Amino acid sequence: MKAALQGSGVRSLAMAGPAVARDRSSSRRANLGMVLRLLRDEGPRSRARISEDAGLPKATVSNLTAELLEGGLIREGEAERDRGTVGRPGQAVEIDGSGVHGIGAEINVDYVSLLALNLKGEVTAEQRIPFDVRAAGPDATLDTTAQLVARGIEVLRRDGGRVVGVTLATPGATDMTTGTVGFASNIGWRDVPAIAGLRERLGTGAPEMHLENDAKLGALAEYVTASAAGVRDLVHVTGQTGVGVGIIAGGQLVRGAGGYAGEVGHLQLVPSEQLCACGRRGCWETTIGRGALLRYAADPGDLVWDPTVDLERRLAELRDRARAGDARTLEALQRIADNLAPGLALLADILNPRLIVLGGHFAFFGEYLLDSVTPQVRERVMAPNAGGCEIVLSTTGLTGTARGGALLALDTVYQDPTRAMTPTQR
Ligand SMILES: [Zn+2]
Repeated sequence: MKAALQGSGVRSLAMAGPAVARDRSSSRRANLGMVLRLLRDEGPRSRARISEDAGLPKATVSNLTAELLEGGLIREGEAERDRGTVGRPGQAVEIDGSGVHGIGAEINVDYVSLLALNLKGEVTAEQRIPFDVRAAGPDATLDTTAQLVARGIEVLRRDGGRVVGVTLATPGATDMTTGTVGFASNIGWRDVPAIAGLRERLGTGAPEMHLENDAKLGALAEYVTASAAGVRDLVHVTGQTGVGVGIIAGGQLVRGAGGYAGEVGHLQLVPSEQLCACGRRGCWETTIGRGALLRYAADPGDLVWDPTVDLERRLAELRDRARAGDARTLEALQRIADNLAPGLALLADILNPRLIVLGGHFAFFGEYLLDSVTPQVRERVMAPNAGGCEIVLSTTGLTGTARGGALLALDTVYQDPTRAMTPTQR
């Protein structure tokens, strides 16, 4: 199963922290986790091979797999092919977890959304509600988010599923240890205890909840795909109202000392006098973010400005205009490309990523941006051949952030499978 989190770098992103083998119960949990991660990273295999690969006695592996089977996290697969060794081919076991779910919930400028994945990597719930977060304020936004999450949990549990965790994503500076949004200029939040607010609204019996920044979660979702192709260094650039980046360097998510790394959107990279939501003028995101796109492409009052209309529909309208050859829309996209290039070149110069993944509206309008952005970046970057950096479009649409949140919630299961096996809801 290659669709789940892979690689040691992603493992280190776990919220749960390493299981320390101090007593019998924690060493059992650590071993259960090791077996599950082995099946995730290396694919289905027989108990004999697990014993060999994990360096555990056969009897121990037999007990561990029995427990994982009982807990619904793995299932019997096909008979393993003879690998040239003597003896009967063993029955392989493989990741199941179709009833174990992680939820990612995203609060963004003009929508609130939810996406659930099961341990197999299948989408098991998905919803997006157009919502003017800035106008509504934190209380009303958390009310709506809590309702969305509660409904998601209810539907998944009604079908017999277990929800192991919820990751809440917001733009801006987030403190994952306290669950507080420190400052998110585009939604106007300052010192909002978002996780405490959600817990209060969802009551007891709610799963574990954590907060993380949207760009970092987007990077995590991209890394799952990219790491399967051997990529260890990646920068994900969100194309939202705000523009943030999530950085994965050497397989590690770069959070920085306080978790605030990646606030590239407020650097001044392109000449501009436009007032930014942060209070300053000329921030990069005022030249490439959603506000810039709308300002360049249409006048206020145009349908594409209407926050009550679903974002994807508004973007699709603009894309229709571009495809119809509308001059203003095409000029707007050219400006976005020209403003995007210097920042991407800067990121490539500083971080030397193998991939820069463009998300949000950059991906949506990729067919109009990429051909212009790529040569401009290559021309600017100091290293030959742009340091081997390739610019690609995200394929996760507007769901990348929530998807990353769901993956992060599920990662706790790989650290400690008993979290998903205990009868009590966590
Ligand atoms: Zn700013």
